Amino acid sequence: MELLKTVSETRQFVASQKEEKRSIGLVPTMGYLHQGHLSLIHTAREQNDTVVVSIFVNPTQFGPQEDLDRYPRDLEKDCRLCTQAGVDAIFMPTANEMYPGRFLTWVQVQELTEVLCGASRPGHFRGVTTVVNKLFNIIQPDRAYFGLKDFQQAVVIKQMVQDLNIPVEIVAVPTVREADGLATSSRNEYLTPQERARATVLYRSLQIGRQLIEAGERNVHSVREAMVKEIERQPNTRIDYIAICDPSTLVPVDQIKNQVLLALAVWIGNTRLIDNVLVEV
Ligand code: AMP
Repeated sequence: MELLKTVSETRQFVASQKEEKRSIGLVPTMGYLHQGHLSLIHTAREQNDTVVVSIFVNPTQFGPQEDLDRYPRDLEKDCRLCTQAGVDAIFMPTANEMYPGRFLTWVQVQELTEVLCGASRPGHFRGVTTVVNKLFNIIQPDRAYFGLKDFQQAVVIKQMVQDLNIPVEIVAVPTVREADGLATSSRNEYLTPQERARATVLYRSLQIGRQLIEAGERNVHSVREAMVKEIERQPNTRIDYIAICDPSTLVPVDQIKNQVLLALAVWIGNTRLIDNVLVEV
């Protein structure tokens, strides 16, 4: 497995793969890899000749009060997991390699980024779409893999690729969960054992919403109320948002029909966790 740290050595690696007509699958991550990332990597491994994983804690997608400085890192373990998963190369640039000096160009998707996580994390998606564009330009993948745990991110990236005619196929991969339902996340690392136990409330609340809809409930307020109630039973938790929305526009719906996305962000102590489920009506 190749460890690529600079843009120029990565361009050389990519050129060698293109010369051999090998298709490239890219899995963008911020590292501290877990089963969720590995699911993306395995999917990429099945669909491409060459798999590149990027590990970059992208400063431009963090707000000033967010967890950039304490974001968990374990490069040694990440390398071991990637080797075991048959990854061909890891692109792990420094922040300076990605943002040397004057940086004046941003890619911004409108509307889709103004709701849900975009409303509580201003600038977050602008950082994501910009860095993903840079990664696409550096690695020139045929396909790129994104997890549905970050449903809004996947929708935003698909829109960007479509709007800007970027020749990359976006593959969305289902959410991987722990045995008790909690979506695997690098940020679960922040939780104390007590908070970890409480964190199961995210998925439980989504399940309550799903079950109500499946049982015939069509009133968004009733569904939302039941989800809020479940979360508010937990001490030291705070709801950032709970939304029942159209999965393609991400706009909140007034009527539950066809297919709806139940999405939420909840603070468990000082840790903000997100999750979502798609419900077929
Ligand atoms: P991150 O390192 O958290 O930025 O995540 C990198 C990629 O892995 C993103 O596309 C995430 O959506 C995806 N991912 C993270 N957690 C999960 C999970 N539990 N299941 C599926 N994909 C995930």
